[in-house]
Amino acid sequence: MTRVTNFNAGPAALPLPALERAQRELLDLEGTGMSVLEHSHREPPYEAIHREALGLLRRMLAVPDTHHILFMQGGARAQFALVPMNLLHPGRSADHLVTGTWAKQAWEEASLVGAACGATARVAATTEREGRFVRVPAADELALDPGASYVHLTSNNTLFGTQWSVFPDVGEVPLVADMTSDLLTRPIDVARFGLIYAGAQKNLGPAGVTVVLVRKDLLDGARTDIPQIFRYRSFASSDSLFNTPPTFAIYMMRNTLAALEERGGLPALHAENQAKAARLHAAIDANPSMWRAPVERASRSMMNVVFRLPTEALEKAFLAQAAREGMVGLQGHRSVGGIRASLYNAVRLADVERLVEFMEAFERSHGG
Ligand code: PMP
Repeated sequence: MTRVTNFNAGPAALPLPALERAQRELLDLEGTGMSVLEHSHREPPYEAIHREALGLLRRMLAVPDTHHILFMQGGARAQFALVPMNLLHPGRSADHLVTGTWAKQAWEEASLVGAACGATARVAATTEREGRFVRVPAADELALDPGASYVHLTSNNTLFGTQWSVFPDVGEVPLVADMTSDLLTRPIDVARFGLIYAGAQKNLGPAGVTVVLVRKDLLDGARTDIPQIFRYRSFASSDSLFNTPPTFAIYMMRNTLAALEERGGLPALHAENQAKAARLHAAIDANPSMWRAPVERASRSMMNVVFRLPTEALEKAFLAQAAREGMVGLQGHRSVGGIRASLYNAVRLADVERLVEFMEAFERSHGG
């Protein structure tokens, strides 16, 4: 078996021990004579996995008692709609900080949901220039409404490779964050957020489950004129067993979280993530005649490192040569182009070292 070095943007690499455990357990989960795929979600073998996954997240992210942890479906994009459906009340407005394509789509979806009930979604800041996003805004660029229902931001811009390194002060207004591409990669003070959501398929596990952390008191006033399946309260009051959950995705997330905790948990993940990004950025900065990072330095993402070569032909040659050497997933998003290395939790420092060695060899053979 030859496994490639996988820099996919998501779904992305998973820790090998998590996959191997699934392989071992697939046909017979802990002596039950059946696969986790075949178990009822209302019986103890699955319930134990479900509880363990919730417990791992609570411990690893230090989620305080003030917040529920929910497992939902529909990916982060469902949350673009569910956040306003639950928390944006008729006649009120929500502030959106638009720092990338996903952030913009979250605002567009909130506008749509708001329009149906006489509420609005405002752009309280945007860093878009000619369709591109290369930085996050400074504090004095935010035109915040102190009466807003919430402020929504996207902590890491997966496509363009920008990231909020420090979250803005939004006063008493609840802060809502799409952390799809950086939850569990650095310490965060969960208490500062009203709601955090993340599709699992980058740093937490496979596609199919979405993690939501939500402050309990926000749900007290949440809207009840929406279908039950779309209400956070339905999931909060049932330990996320309101209906059949994506059992296999949650099982794989449990395996992934257990493997990441075994590696030392969040402090170890954060240290390695910092080292990986620093290593790659240093290689890019070392040779400006070959590599160019379009993102402003202070806004650079630790997760998605985006860079360009002098020509598109050279970029194509780079990607093809990398693939021949077993390094895949390096093409930039189709709307952005260039190169993007996604350095999520399952990508190790040794993988980045390999990529940097390859870049140095590419420089030598292409006269950079
Ligand atoms: N937000 C961010 C920051 C993302 O990176 C993505 C997916 N790349 C999404 C939202 C959309 O997620 P999903 O496909 O799970 O709906």
